[in-house]
Amino acid sequence: MDYFPLFLRLAGQPVVVIGGGEVAARKTLLLARAGAAITLVSPELCASLQERLERGEVRHIAEEFRPEHLEGARLVIAATDVESVNAWVARSAEARNIWVNVVDDRDKSRFIMPAIVDRSPVIVAIGSSGDAPVLTRRLREKFEALLPAGLGKLAKLSGELRSAVKDRVVNPDERRRFWERFFDGDIASDVLAGREQAARDSISQAIDAGLSEVDVAAMPVGEVALVGAGPGDPGLLTLRALRVMQNADVVVYDRLVSDEVLELVRRDAERIYVGKEAGKPYVSQEEINQLLVDLALQGKRVCRLKGGDPFVFGRGGEELEKLAERGIRFEVVPGISAAVGCAAYAGIPLTHRHYAQVLTFTTGHSKNEVAHAPVDWKALAGPGQTAVFYMGLNGLPTIVEQLQVHGLPADHPAAVIEQGTRPGQRVISGTLATLVQQVTAAQVKSPALLIVGEVTRLHEQLRWFNTTAEQAHVDQIEIAGLHA
Ligand code: SAH
Repeated sequence: MDYFPLFLRLAGQPVVVIGGGEVAARKTLLLARAGAAITLVSPELCASLQERLERGEVRHIAEEFRPEHLEGARLVIAATDVESVNAWVARSAEARNIWVNVVDDRDKSRFIMPAIVDRSPVIVAIGSSGDAPVLTRRLREKFEALLPAGLGKLAKLSGELRSAVKDRVVNPDERRRFWERFFDGDIASDVLAGREQAARDSISQAIDAGLSEVDVAAMPVGEVALVGAGPGDPGLLTLRALRVMQNADVVVYDRLVSDEVLELVRRDAERIYVGKEAGKPYVSQEEINQLLVDLALQGKRVCRLKGGDPFVFGRGGEELEKLAERGIRFEVVPGISAAVGCAAYAGIPLTHRHYAQVLTFTTGHSKNEVAHAPVDWKALAGPGQTAVFYMGLNGLPTIVEQLQVHGLPADHPAAVIEQGTRPGQRVISGTLATLVQQVTAAQVKSPALLIVGEVTRLHEQLRWFNTTAEQAHVDQIEIAGLHA
């Protein structure tokens, strides 16, 4: 973070603006809205500043800038059109530990001003550290469109109610839920739709009835949402997933959930890691099932976050069976499964009218699982098919061998995608005959997915994600292959 965002209570605070032209006038307008005590330093003032002066809204020192003008100021804005003067203002302010902004000159500025969407008391401030002002403006337009005009009223109303609610609903968790229901419920819709009086009436009724009894009785008990976190890129989360993550009291997550996705979890939610990691004690599936039950029975809203989709090789079903047995409420939020995400980001269409009419997902590794349901190699080697293998890295030699034994040619195309959809994504494409050696040379690590089928040839033409890094890497593998 190059800039630290903060909101400053500027009412009544001395702020000095150096300059008297249109630029100074624009900054003065904003400062005045925040109630700052503004002093303008400039031999002359433009018409709009002159009017402000006559209305008694600003002080004016009709002089050329001298460092003494800054004495006692909290903030300084340098808005003259003379660069050397602006630089002098900036140096003088820095020397006095006063925060300074030089308009349109971030290098001389200690602080810069964000683009804002003002629904006071709600204020959205957007910045790009000065790198992309046009982008910042675009974002502001989006927020302007997105945020209802009544939002400020709604926030004000909540401000008025805060202490009453705090007195009546003592438990902080319950209080948070009260507010969540407040903002999701009828009262909020009334305010946003301009029916403020109706909203106030319902509130006084609720308060008279004793907020605590009414609301605490209606409190939901704990519940679990089994949420698919997708293959890694946080942009692939569903809106529903995001919402659950932001409302959760506790998040129980796996190794395959990316850091970028975890960043989006509500900040003060508890996080419990239950993935496998070398050298650390391993949490068994039974323990995870029990943990979810226990947390829900404590009244928590649990977000069980799993890589990809929870129902695709995720043992999500087993976790839900336990919850169902105990009568605990749950929901399932699907995610982008690795096969779908990796294929898209590798430019490999999983089906194609010319090459593949059948698509299979198979789990490639665990010996126990194979024992439960032996793999039907003959079917997987059938014609016109794309076969995707999850967890296929350890089993890769067996998979390519068995597919050939059961009828696929040695030059049948296949690809391994490592870290699919993530910044480090690599795609190794080859044939059943070459892939093991290529994957060894490239030192591919988990998570990696194997796709077998004619469609993998399309990667060459349809690749679009991360292409330069990947190309550099593929070159490296070829060199390694030559040396081998
Ligand atoms: N429920 C998950 C799959 C869990 S099994 C899903 O729907 O995606 C774990 C396997 O998924 C890994 O061994 C790997 O084969 C695959 N996988 C998950 N994320 C991946 C990623 N980002 N890139 C490549 N493979 C991935």
